[in-house]
Amino acid sequence: MRLLVTGGAGFIGSNFARWVLTNQPDVRLTNLDALTYAGNLASLADVEDHPRYRFVRGDVCDPALVGELVADADAVVHFAAESHVDRSIDDPAAFLRTNVTGAGVVFDACRRAEVDRVLHISTDEVYGSVEAPGRFGEGDALEPNSPYAASKAAADLLARSYGVTYGYPITVTRSANNFGPFHLPEKMIPLFVTNLLDGRKVPLYGDGGNVRDWTYVLDNVVAQWLVLTEGVPGEVYNVGAGNELTNRALTGRLLDRLGHGEDMIEHVADRPGHDRRYAIDTSKVAALGWHPASDLDEALDATVAWYRANEAWWRPLKDGGLSARRGTSPSGGR
Ligand code: NAD
Repeated sequence: MRLLVTGGAGFIGSNFARWVLTNQPDVRLTNLDALTYAGNLASLADVEDHPRYRFVRGDVCDPALVGELVADADAVVHFAAESHVDRSIDDPAAFLRTNVTGAGVVFDACRRAEVDRVLHISTDEVYGSVEAPGRFGEGDALEPNSPYAASKAAADLLARSYGVTYGYPITVTRSANNFGPFHLPEKMIPLFVTNLLDGRKVPLYGDGGNVRDWTYVLDNVVAQWLVLTEGVPGEVYNVGAGNELTNRALTGRLLDRLGHGEDMIEHVADRPGHDRRYAIDTSKVAALGWHPASDLDEALDATVAWYRANEAWWRPLKDGGLSARRGTSPSGGR
């Protein structure tokens, strides 16, 4: 299979590319990535000379480049996006450009080239917030509450329209919060772990009662591969491990692992429009045969160990100011 991955220098994309190159010997993988602040070739340093891997630096909003690359692809997985909610609140324009226009360029190029399988990577945030014990199924309404989530929802709807209008099915996955290796230290878990490794406080939004479903990235990449190869084209699949935790409880687990107490929590003003709870029904992807292999605590242990062992990866990012986000109040969420 000739596979084009967009955004492969980011967090999930780099984990996915490594997993595919390691586990799928028949795949030749091209990674198209613009290397924004979030793209980092150091995340793929161990595979950069792999004989079945090629990196192309470029923008998913460039129709000529995307058209040229998809002409050579049997399948496309579209990860590239602006991904940080806090940044979307400060500057929505970049999110509209990459997450809506860029997705449109990719979908249209794939349709014209008649690429066999296209997987668009979306998020559970498109559904908005749900009170316990509710959980969203794939057919529920999209009620996004941040510019990030709205831009992702727009792309989901565009994907849907390609099936209806052109008879060209684009498959969509909506994943819950991921965590694991190569996650930028602007996001909650790596921000908190690296702060605590440096003996710095961790900024917790509001009352810390926001609930997320935490999914280990190495489980998620397996789900993405399964949906790409075995999913029904044009269908939507929720992906999440079902590890619901409040941000406060998650913070407690990280403090324990790094040998700190609650005095290291800095309570900061809540994020505007902060969704209270994300929860999804994952029975559809389970029916394809996906079940998360990792236990949450073991995956958190592995993640903390990875950040301890890989300071050379995260230190330049941290020193480059990635932790300085919305005003003086870095995030407690994705
Ligand atoms: P990330 O921010 O770590 O990586 C995004 C990558 O896209 C970067 O390598 C960046 O350089 C690249 N990129 C950005 N704009 C581009 C453009 N115009 N052209 C080409 N490349 C561009 O993001 P991530 O956390 O790995 O998320 C990947 C995808 O998964 C996104 O679509 C995101 O919405 C979705 N998602 C993420 C999570 C999560 O918890 N991280 C959960 C659900 C869904």
